[in-house]
Amino acid sequence: MDFGMSERCEGLREELLTFMDEHVYRAEKANLAEMEASDDPYSGTSVLRALKEIAKEKGLWNLFLPDDEWGPGLSNVDYAPLAEIMGRSAEIAPEATNCAAPDTGNMEVLTTFGSHDQQQEWLVPLLAGEIRSAFSMTEPRVASSDPRNLETSIVADGEDFVVNGRKWWITGASSKECKISIVMGVTNPDAPPKQRFSMILVPMDTPGMIVERDLPVFGFHERGGHSQIAYNNVRVPAANIIGEPGSGYQIAQARLGPGRIHHCMRVIGMAERALDMMKKRVKLRKAFGGPLADNAVIQEWIAESRMRIDQARLLVMHAAWKIDTMGSRAARVDVSAIKVVAPNSALWVIDKAIQAHGGAGIGDDFGLSRMYAFARTLRIADGPDEVHRMVVARAELR
Ligand SMILES: Cc1cc2nc3c(=O)[nH]c(=O)nc-3n(C[C@H](O)[C@H](O)[C@H](O)COP(=O)(O)OP(=O)(O)OC[C@H]3O[C@@H](n4cnc5c(N)ncnc54)[C@H](O)[C@@H]3O)c2cc1C
Repeated sequence: MDFGMSERCEGLREELLTFMDEHVYRAEKANLAEMEASDDPYSGTSVLRALKEIAKEKGLWNLFLPDDEWGPGLSNVDYAPLAEIMGRSAEIAPEATNCAAPDTGNMEVLTTFGSHDQQQEWLVPLLAGEIRSAFSMTEPRVASSDPRNLETSIVADGEDFVVNGRKWWITGASSKECKISIVMGVTNPDAPPKQRFSMILVPMDTPGMIVERDLPVFGFHERGGHSQIAYNNVRVPAANIIGEPGSGYQIAQARLGPGRIHHCMRVIGMAERALDMMKKRVKLRKAFGGPLADNAVIQEWIAESRMRIDQARLLVMHAAWKIDTMGSRAARVDVSAIKVVAPNSALWVIDKAIQAHGGAGIGDDFGLSRMYAFARTLRIADGPDEVHRMVVARAELR
């Protein structure tokens, strides 16, 4: 196993660290303030647009894309430390570098499975950061952690397909910058479960597609939103089907693998930042005759945080190395394992950082509460812990 950074990655890492120090961290407050003051808090901010221009200029762009025809072609082992750095400012750095979900997964789908016309129409502007996108799989009516339950119908009608159903938790769909949604639904109801589904491209301005509401995350409304969308007789050309009809389940599996590992890499960066904040705070803050850092309980939190983060990182690097050397299919169980380990480790660290800050950790001056809310969603988004544990357990039992 070799987790070493290539020379190219080392250069990008230096560049990214400088970008974060000189531009990203100091833009965080201004970005939030702009969102709060705006009539449309969901769409991109001028702060982010400016950051995107700088990132593009510095070559810190689309680093997630392993395909070397459309993107920089970094391996997962090379991308991991970069994604971790971006995760330190998870609300803006991934988007500023065009490495944010759900666009990353959608771009990978279009790169791998899209037709030439689909790539020209949607992949090219997505790669340029000119538009954003959504991925519509989860449905309010059914337990969507088992995608075989999905009910949204995609029915052939002449030269078109007609989509009917309701989706929710569709990240990014409330933003005006979001122009396209990849929708998963049933095209072949009589086929075996894994061949029933297809993915279809639905432009956001298609008649009958209605963004009904944004769902808050523990009371926070995130930029882009997590939207509930009704598809009422939404008609799109048959050419908008991605790949073959019936291949949706396989495409979803291919899409979610890289997406999950990226989330894990970023959440480790978030945990590192929370640990940094905890260390700083406990050295400054005094109680009962000395700095909080002198207290054995606090030292135990710090030591435990370091050990949990390092364990999670090693497991993530191992999964990244396995994807690079054996393919994402071979790494399926490893990806499920890190999808449980990384968010839970990060949550433990962030929780202790909140505790060490006292009341200040609960408010929004330090950003720890937003971090906690974000990391907590990852125990459900892209598959709940229990389903990933089931994958690991079944592999063990086999
Ligand atoms: C912030 C956020 C962003 C999201 N973004 C998107 C998006 O962009 N696009 C999209 O399509 N979806 C998105 N989702 C939805 C997410 O992927 C689903 O919520 C998730 O897959 C679970 O599906 P469900 O909500 O229907 O839960 P259900 O399937 O109803 O499951 C509920 C609970 O049952 C338990 N459970 C399920 N299966 C098992 C099992 N085998 N063993 C034991 N317990 C089990 C788990 O605890 C699970 O949490 C997002 C969710 C969140 C919170």
